[in-house]
Amino acid sequence: MRRARWTFTVTLPFLALVPGLRAQTLADDDPVLRAIYTEATEGSRFEPLAQALLDSIGPRLTASEGMERAQAWAVERLASWGYDARTEQYGTWEGWNRGTSAIDLVEPRVRSLEGRILAWSPGTGGEPVEGGVVAPDGIASPADWQAFLGTVRDRWVMWSFPQPTCRPDDMWREYAQPGSYEAMDEARDEAQRAWNAQIRAAGSDDPRNRDLQRQLEEAGALGIVTSNWTGEVGTNRVFNSYTREIPTFELSCEDYGLVHRLAARNQGPVLRLTAEAENRGHVPVYNVIAEMRGTELPDEYVILSAHYDSWEAGSGATDNGTGSVLMMEAARILAEVYPNPKRTILVGLWSGEEQGLNGSHAFVEDHPDIVDGLQALYNQDNGTGRVVSMSGSGFVDAGGHLARWLARVPAQVSRFIDVSFPGMPSGGGTDSASFVCAGAPGFNLGALSWDYGSLTWHTQRDTFDKLVFDDLRNNAVLTASLAYLASEDPERVSRERRDMPLNTQTGEPANWPACGAAVRDSRNSPRMQ
Ligand SMILES: [Zn+2]
Repeated sequence: MRRARWTFTVTLPFLALVPGLRAQTLADDDPVLRAIYTEATEGSRFEPLAQALLDSIGPRLTASEGMERAQAWAVERLASWGYDARTEQYGTWEGWNRGTSAIDLVEPRVRSLEGRILAWSPGTGGEPVEGGVVAPDGIASPADWQAFLGTVRDRWVMWSFPQPTCRPDDMWREYAQPGSYEAMDEARDEAQRAWNAQIRAAGSDDPRNRDLQRQLEEAGALGIVTSNWTGEVGTNRVFNSYTREIPTFELSCEDYGLVHRLAARNQGPVLRLTAEAENRGHVPVYNVIAEMRGTELPDEYVILSAHYDSWEAGSGATDNGTGSVLMMEAARILAEVYPNPKRTILVGLWSGEEQGLNGSHAFVEDHPDIVDGLQALYNQDNGTGRVVSMSGSGFVDAGGHLARWLARVPAQVSRFIDVSFPGMPSGGGTDSASFVCAGAPGFNLGALSWDYGSLTWHTQRDTFDKLVFDDLRNNAVLTASLAYLASEDPERVSRERRDMPLNTQTGEPANWPACGAAVRDSRNSPRMQ
């Protein structure tokens, strides 16, 4: 028999509040839920855990020593709370450590510049490397590109569009004279199009133009200078280098513009880079796995999931220190107040997410028994905000379970959450997708933004000070409560999938997302080449 399909979105208090319940009271008399609430608020360890991880250990680039230190710390913490905790190797990866660096403008005047080499970039062996600057200009054909390659020897090559303003658009809209913002915006669009067109004219068919960067490397350039401004004051995204012989570094919006203007007006800018970086060769990469065995149903699992790896220009605070510490704090609370879980509680702190969900994909491939036994997985990966959205991930019956569980979570926490049932299976983006594609019930805890996209996501500003502990403690109550309720539920969550909506282009039903294969070796990773 086919079940009725239903889809709705509703703000949870309409489900959760019983008549006469005041917002400050707990919705449930269950002593474990009450103890979770008390431990997650009055006994919270969120702040000291996050401070130790983000300030003292710092960022956690896949295959870096920072990640290994962070993993050893997580294993030690989880074991101290009674978990069977370990690292589990899933592959090998090109390892890299950042060292100290300085970038200076030395001609036509001295200024220390704000920037850093990109992840996996070579350094300069700690020695200063100095040279003039060239920028692509007027390239209209592959022949022009070849001519440009002839000018790059012993020069730094400017490789990003120079922003005409480093003020946010909101500020322009607020203060500019009538028409002034619009004129700037139009000129900026046109300049950006012209910049893109000349890079396209070089004849690369790689959307990331990695082959062009290799050609610059081979043509004897000193290095590549980039800038990836988010549109927020002082905030750049910082990803990985595609060069392996010469350094690639980034500059702030302001400093990149300065150097580009000096070069464009023939004012003779000279840059000096001094950078240490260590290529560690090919090293093993690991997930952190910790288990508290179930007393009644040990082969059924509730998974607390977050990716632990990060980019490394900041501290990986909101991406994804917050999700990782949330899962550790929920695990700590559960060990404290629910030490004999009915189902097995498993903490998965994945590596390699930023290179394509590799750690979680590998775990799913390596542990079909755990995937088969999954009751529910909760994943969080979009910053410091309180959780405001959850979905049934496309599982028809999951909505009923989630609604029942959420109705028992304290209303102080659940009142912010919009739920959508059955929702859609996510095709990627974060690690719950690695389980959902395999048909296992993974749920993502969607957080309020706090300007995640423009301020912290993959930026050098993703640091401890951006954390909002009132919201994070909320999330600890929520996650520990949902884990407890999923563990205790007398019923398994059914894996029946929704009818997928029609693809508007083909008129055919959309497909349930397929699982990507884990990339277990950086030499096979398109993101690393
Ligand atoms: Zn993330």
